[in-house]
Amino acid sequence: MRALLNVDYTIDFVAKDGKLTCGIPGQAIEDKVVSLTKEFIENGDFVIFAIDAHQENDQYHPEANLFPPHNIVGTTGKDLYGKLKEVYETHMSDANVYYFDKTRYSAFAGTDLEIKLRERGITEVHIIGVCTDICVLHTAIDAYNKGFDIVIHKDAVASFNQAGHIWALDHFTNTLGAKVI
Ligand code: ZN
Repeated sequence: MRALLNVDYTIDFVAKDGKLTCGIPGQAIEDKVVSLTKEFIENGDFVIFAIDAHQENDQYHPEANLFPPHNIVGTTGKDLYGKLKEVYETHMSDANVYYFDKTRYSAFAGTDLEIKLRERGITEVHIIGVCTDICVLHTAIDAYNKGFDIVIHKDAVASFNQAGHIWALDHFTNTLGAKVI
């Protein structure tokens, strides 16, 4: 069984005026992110939206001194970007679509993601979204440590750091044993 894990494809991470935007590379993957999401939903696969959620002025959060504030709860910056928002809203009540907030890079950190995957007998996790070398990477590392097979769709991941993006694609293949397709 396989699942699609959609990571952080939000306005703050993708839009031109997003708070922590990947810019053009992020916008360039929109059609691929949307088509994969539709394909998995329509196929009946489990489709997860794991979305960064931060509180304003959270001095205890480890990202506080690393990145500008982003994906603040209650702001439009946390909304899914572009056509992905429509796709999610159309299917949000489907039994195989699951959206949750995360507060760390990895979608597994402090969430019930692993339980949801195990319940469904899912062994293969497909990861798309942003940023390749931050939240996608940390999610993939946790998936690796928990014994899931990993598939990364290279035309559906992006970063604001091109060198980091390329490094991470290599790391997925050579260190995490992921299929990069
Ligand atoms: Zn964050």
